[in-house]
Amino acid sequence: MNQAKVIPLEISLHPGELCRKLGCLGWHIDRDRQQAVIESLLNQALSVVAGKVVYSIHTINKMLAGRMELAGCPPISGPVGNHLQPASRVVVFAATLGAEFENLVRPRLAHDGRIESSILQALADTAINAVVDAVADHLYWNELAREECLTPPLIPGCCGFDAQAVETLLSILDTRPIGLELMPGPCLNPALSTTGLIGIAPQSKIEEFGIPCAHCDISACRLRAEIKSPPHDPSDLPGHVIS
Ligand code: SF4
Repeated sequence: MNQAKVIPLEISLHPGELCRKLGCLGWHIDRDRQQAVIESLLNQALSVVAGKVVYSIHTINKMLAGRMELAGCPPISGPVGNHLQPASRVVVFAATLGAEFENLVRPRLAHDGRIESSILQALADTAINAVVDAVADHLYWNELAREECLTPPLIPGCCGFDAQAVETLLSILDTRPIGLELMPGPCLNPALSTTGLIGIAPQSKIEEFGIPCAHCDISACRLRAEIKSPPHDPSDLPGHVIS
């Protein structure tokens, strides 16, 4: 096992990504009319966001469809077979956007006007995705051998991975250096943080195995439904209009 590492992360947030996320949340936005609000909130967020990750890399003692044993770690239950095969090593990580970002976004989600709250919700979701992307970028450029690549991340609460797994993953890492703590629930403080697993394997084996969705049997997955029957016209989408 590698020593755990603590790394600052560069977080990219773009207005177009925010608009796309608003669409995913069911809001159709008049981008021209709301551009000033979006840019103002984005600039505020970028001035305080402080992405950080702590991670360790483990060899695999055993990987079954629903359970995995990593060297030096307690057993991890979840859909690891679908997501992390054909990994030879697995990264356990925890990442945060920082307390200042949390203080900017979270208190205003419930109290602001309709438009700003919706944009802030999209901003929070976009930033969480961006921090996971930043972790993957760091791993890709700093931890892989020449022929290796990364599997998609497996995050507690997603794709059938029990949200309670947060507790197991945080028992593997010392998250104090990034200012992250586990609260009852279990939940993370700051809440705009995440934890998860990413597999490392030869690129050819990852390509041969295919994407996790090809092996997943969760028929109720919204993403799977959207892939099968994309809407032809944005006006077909259910949701709200921001003007
Ligand atoms: S089908 Fe849905 S639940 Fe299954 S792996 Fe893909 S995104 Fe995750």
